[in-house]
Amino acid sequence: MKFATKQIHAGQHPEETTGAVITPIFQTSTYSNEKLGETKGFDYGRTINPTRSALEANLAALENGKYGFCFSSGMAAVQTVINLFKPGDHIICTNNVYGGTYRLYEQVMRDFGMEFSYIDTSDNNALKNAVKENTKFIYVETPTNPMLNITDLKFLAELSRDKKIVSCVDNTFMSPYFQNPLDFGVDIVLHSTTKYINGHSDVIGGCLVTSDEKIAERIKFLQNSIGSVPSPFDCWLVLRSTKTLAQRMKAHNENAVNICKALSKNKQIEKLYYPGLETHPQYELAKSQMSGFGGIISLDVGSYEKAVDFCNALKIFQIAESLGGVESLVCHPVSMTHGSVPVDLRNEFGLTVGLVRLSVGIEDIDDLLADIDNALKSLN
Ligand SMILES: *Cc1c(COP(=O)(O)O)cnc(C)c1O
Repeated sequence: MKFATKQIHAGQHPEETTGAVITPIFQTSTYSNEKLGETKGFDYGRTINPTRSALEANLAALENGKYGFCFSSGMAAVQTVINLFKPGDHIICTNNVYGGTYRLYEQVMRDFGMEFSYIDTSDNNALKNAVKENTKFIYVETPTNPMLNITDLKFLAELSRDKKIVSCVDNTFMSPYFQNPLDFGVDIVLHSTTKYINGHSDVIGGCLVTSDEKIAERIKFLQNSIGSVPSPFDCWLVLRSTKTLAQRMKAHNENAVNICKALSKNKQIEKLYYPGLETHPQYELAKSQMSGFGGIISLDVGSYEKAVDFCNALKIFQIAESLGGVESLVCHPVSMTHGSVPVDLRNEFGLTVGLVRLSVGIEDIDDLLADIDNALKSLN
């Protein structure tokens, strides 16, 4: 089955009593036993919920995986995946990883005796050289935020398999429509469903997908033990959203490509970052492992003052954290999402004070281009 068919049908069955086409919101915390000890496979709402199960099956299918698990946030999914490991384990992580992940690893999990190395995973040699005797896990984000660096998925999967290391890719930026890390041999895929998968900026959620039975069994155990599960209503909202994921991603991608075309001719932009640009240092790698380039563009307007003025002058692009919704957003990472990243580390990634990140929505392209054009003209 092709993606646009799976997004609508995978994990979905007409409801048994009425034939309702849409999976209902099973807003219940518990289930009645017909006789003592005789359940219909449902015992307690944290452990299992039919609305959640439908979403989990849907997301697993979209990532070409066997098992899906949903969580109350992307961070709850990150917490659950790191709980697969133990004190003394060494973990390799992309240096320019999502700030919340870095905070969880450094300010919470380090206190539990885990050892973390932050590596430029887009550099195969650096990744390989970071592996130690006790390395048990490699956690990669590709493309990264906001620099849009790409890690080689095939290399990651082969290295992990060779060294018996579990690999996980945070695939939030690409969504399952443009990139499927499991197809390359990666063990686990993670999403903040808050972003493209839900896409309507009205739910916080996360998921993990794997095809490895042992890993799946342990994640299921952790999901129930830790208990950071999403509400049935949130699952229903995300399930409604996945039905249009292909169409939304195509529209995000098309708008972003068109905006890049216009911006690459503009002399006010000092640097433009987008994996779909032939000038992106990893354009060929991006093309080989992604079927599209997504809706995130970063641009450097040259100074802090210009970046602030540019954000303030935009009218359709709203100044907000987050990304992946149908509406266009703009963010100044240094003052917003990446405020807590030390200056040295920021400079190492090339994250300058003049850098602005656009999450390109699916509005009409003419309006978006005019909005950006007006904002740039106002800078002089
Ligand atoms: C937002 C985000 C997360 C965290 O997800 P929440 O749903 O906000 O908890 C993790 N990784 C990436 C890449 C993100 O963009």
